Amino acid sequence: MRKKLAICLTFLLLLFLVYDKDISAMSSRPTRPVSYLVRVAVIIDAPEINLKIKGDYGICALPLLEPIKEGNNLRDVTVKPIYSGILIGEEQFKIYGIKIKTDSVADIYVNGRRFRGEMDIMRTEGLKLMVINHLDIEDYISGVLYHEVSHWWPMEALKAQAIASRTFAIYKTIESEGKDYDVRSDIYSQVYGGKTSEKFRTNRAVQQTAGNVLIYGQEILPAYFHATCGGHTEDASLLWGTNIRPLKGRRCGYCKGSPHFNWVKKIPLEFIEEKLKENGYKIRNIRSIKTSSRDASGRVKVVSIADSLGVKKMSANKFRLAVGPNVIRSTDFTVKIEDTAAIFDGRGWGHGVGMCQWGAYYMARQRFKAEDIFKFYYPGARIADLKDILK
Ligand SMILES: [Zn+2]
Repeated sequence: MRKKLAICLTFLLLLFLVYDKDISAMSSRPTRPVSYLVRVAVIIDAPEINLKIKGDYGICALPLLEPIKEGNNLRDVTVKPIYSGILIGEEQFKIYGIKIKTDSVADIYVNGRRFRGEMDIMRTEGLKLMVINHLDIEDYISGVLYHEVSHWWPMEALKAQAIASRTFAIYKTIESEGKDYDVRSDIYSQVYGGKTSEKFRTNRAVQQTAGNVLIYGQEILPAYFHATCGGHTEDASLLWGTNIRPLKGRRCGYCKGSPHFNWVKKIPLEFIEEKLKENGYKIRNIRSIKTSSRDASGRVKVVSIADSLGVKKMSANKFRLAVGPNVIRSTDFTVKIEDTAAIFDGRGWGHGVGMCQWGAYYMARQRFKAEDIFKFYYPGARIADLKDILK
């Protein structure tokens, strides 16, 4: 009981320190310059999950953190939401959520994925589960990097990606204050695979850049990045209204060798209609799709779709997101209709804002340093230490 209480009380203390932004007092590992927690939504709406813990653990009830269970090694159990609370294996708890806390060497497995840090499991309104991993920013970046770039890429490109990913995550934590979580573990934020996704070289890039972030003026830079720009990066103000010098877009001559520089995709018109319908656009029997205007980077601004009822115009960005961002890889495309399909001939992959990852790869191969990569893709931004920013 005393141990259980200790684990929960330690957490309360950490929570207080984090929200008080007194991060210097929190550093749990002496080799690290700063500790900053990120809340990652690992699962958003699941009817049940599989849970396993290797090592010592304590489980507390949310929100007041009363200890409810402790032990060593929790064998596979199913966690389910029920009307009166939460079912952990055979045990019923009349609470809406739990926090699992472990010591530094233990691991938590959710649906077979291995995680560091702490895990909140909460019952949501629709009688589903939401799982949120609370972990140190450096551990988070270690679990993200492998999904963003190949761990065999040149070290300076990996370092640039580590700094950009860290900066973007911190930007998200600032933006999401008051919300249930900061980032999602899927493609809507950065893909986060937990400890399962850590590799030797990506971890080295994280360690070598520990605490480094990008700032513009005194603010954390919204350090957007994407796979391949296709020749010109995009002006962020056209997509999200972020109008700052580092994100105005520029010509990029580095990503020509990217496997995503050119792409061609044949998409059945029926599929496009279905996807548009799912997103609230009623379009039937598409007759033509035309690209009406282009922005300074060459990307399509407006798409005009003619169907049996007339012509509808929509932003190319919304059109791409509705059909699927990995189906129509960018808004830099031409399109023609052949029989019952539309053929898109495009360049690049992603929204195009900020750092072009394949451009960074080729810059690093030409012996440019991470700093040079940032000077090119985020002009006017500079590298700073997180602990100095948060003082
Ligand atoms: Zn590029």
